[in-house]
Amino acid sequence: PYDVLVVGGGPAGASAAIYAARKGIRTGIVAERFGGQVMDTLGIENFISNSYTEGPKLMASVEAHVNDYNVDIMKLQQAKKLTKNDFVELELENGAVLKSKTLILSTGARWRNIGVPGEAEFKNKGVAYCPHCDGPLFEGKDVAVIGGGNSGIEAAIDLAGIVKHVTVLEFAPELKADQVLQDRVNSLSNVTVIKNAQTTEITGDSKVNGITYIDRDTNEEHHIELAGVFVQIGLVPNTEWLGDIVERNRVGEIVVDKHGATSLSGVFAAGDCTDTPYKQIIISMGSGATASLGAFDYLIRN
Ligand code: FAD
Repeated sequence: PYDVLVVGGGPAGASAAIYAARKGIRTGIVAERFGGQVMDTLGIENFISNSYTEGPKLMASVEAHVNDYNVDIMKLQQAKKLTKNDFVELELENGAVLKSKTLILSTGARWRNIGVPGEAEFKNKGVAYCPHCDGPLFEGKDVAVIGGGNSGIEAAIDLAGIVKHVTVLEFAPELKADQVLQDRVNSLSNVTVIKNAQTTEITGDSKVNGITYIDRDTNEEHHIELAGVFVQIGLVPNTEWLGDIVERNRVGEIVVDKHGATSLSGVFAAGDCTDTPYKQIIISMGSGATASLGAFDYLIRN
């Protein structure tokens, strides 16, 4: 069996694997797509120590770093089921079963898509999901934020300081964000909030040039010209396959303690698949290190 088996090859999983391997213990990493969400990111300007990098470039150097150590990397493998007997057992989609003394779940998350025409077509060409990451690309331009929950309103407040104008489109008749955030957004002169608005299309040519929505009160269609659309209708953690074996919160995130431990002993978790706030590369790498050190602590005590 492995001492530490990591599920997921994004920043959290890679960091966990490096920390484990550096302890000289038997380490493996199973990843459907090595590199994770970062592979879909063009410009990264908030990875400390590096003023500008690009997702595929960053993850190539992360992979090279993992390869400096004796880690079994199992790529293009999807974990399907987790069970625990004497060891933690991980069943893969291809039928193989891997055994380990400890396991680190770092399966990440995916942005919830709005699913309207233009979204997939203009992804990274004006359709964005991460205001911390891509906001500065729209400096001085007009943008929309789809979604009036906490993440949408926080995005609007954040973007208002960078872009020329922000239009928030909320499907429901009311914003769902906390009142303090609503008060703050209402105080900003370059933000317009439109409620009861059903986004129907993101338009563009080689990149985004506008958004179309239906006013659900009047059934009238409207079109706004703008350069960017931030879709902020939530993140979906890749944890459905776990079922009830580890505790997950209402939105499916794995509940972890300060050591990265889950409700199942010997099983740890890190990164965007957990209930820790602020989903970012640097944060997921930090939590991967935490979970790995947590797993090592567990190994020397058991
Ligand atoms: P992920 O990166 O999601 O990696 C998850 C890994 O698990 C992948 O290898 C995946 O294939 C694997 N996996 C999932 N399910 C299974 C399974 N069942 N079996 C096996 N493997 C599985 N953050 C920043 O700090 N700066 C930015 O500029 C930035 N820009 C972003 C731009 C975009 C478009 C997106 C989508 C995100 C951006 N983020 C940015 C957020 C950042 O990418 C994430 O916080 C980070 O990637 C989370 O790392 P993770 O390792 O937890 O998960």
